Amino acid sequence: FGPRDGILVANDLLKQFGGLTAVDELSFAVQEQEILGFIGPNGAGKSTTFNCVTGAYEPTGGTVWFKGEDVTGLEAHEMVKRGMARTFQDFAPLEDRSVVRNVELSLAPDKLFTLSGVGGETRRLAEEICRRVGLGEVLDKTPDELPHADMLKLELAKAIANEPDLMLVDEPFAGLSSQEVTELSEILESLRQNGMTLIVVDHNMRGLLQLIDRAFVIQFGSRIADGSPDEITSNPKVQEAYLGG
Ligand code: ADP
Ligand code: MG
Repeated sequence: FGPRDGILVANDLLKQFGGLTAVDELSFAVQEQEILGFIGPNGAGKSTTFNCVTGAYEPTGGTVWFKGEDVTGLEAHEMVKRGMARTFQDFAPLEDRSVVRNVELSLAPDKLFTLSGVGGETRRLAEEICRRVGLGEVLDKTPDELPHADMLKLELAKAIANEPDLMLVDEPFAGLSSQEVTELSEILESLRQNGMTLIVVDHNMRGLLQLIDRAFVIQFGSRIADGSPDEITSNPKVQEAYLGG
């Protein structure tokens, strides 16, 4: 792959922890306004890949290009500034602040600075973001008052606060009912309709196959398959990884 083969391109991405290779020379390209499913069993290296791409970890090797620019090893706040956002699997909102305040505090410092002169303007922006993910009715609740599905929406709202071009969503469907999976999928689809590119991680395919254009399946830090949802589900290697154990 080259720098312009997608909005996000990883080439031979490698991450080792001591003797353990968590991401093993992985290469992939994500196209603008695509919803890419990033699938693999627990421990496959999905979150580690995210951490390398978003600047939480420094890759041991390989290259990451974002919008044509080499961003390998840049820190997380640099990635945010360039238009990348992520959600966390083990998220932790501020428990003593309201939903809307949590989102307000996720706005980038320069945005807060620009808007802070105007009375209530950052709160209004945060409210608007909350509404986009279906949190309009719970703006002034604290996170501990929210059902689990709304907690996931709050994590999403914090990630989209700075209008990213690319968002990496880690295991958004964990613990949701199938109705909640559908609702969250519709929210993610609406973000895509508004121009965002999405990478959505899951360790199973439930819910995900409805949403995604294309999937990338990894196991032991390596790609085992990629293609359309139909191609993935009929791929013998994928079936083996999920059923053969
Ligand atoms: P997934 O998100 O696909 O479930 P992870 O990326 O979290 O998988 O983990 C991949 C492998 O890397 C696992 O074996 C995990 O134990 C290991 N790993 C992840 N993060 C660290 C870390 N910070 N230090 C050491 N090992 C890690
Ligand atoms: Mg993970």
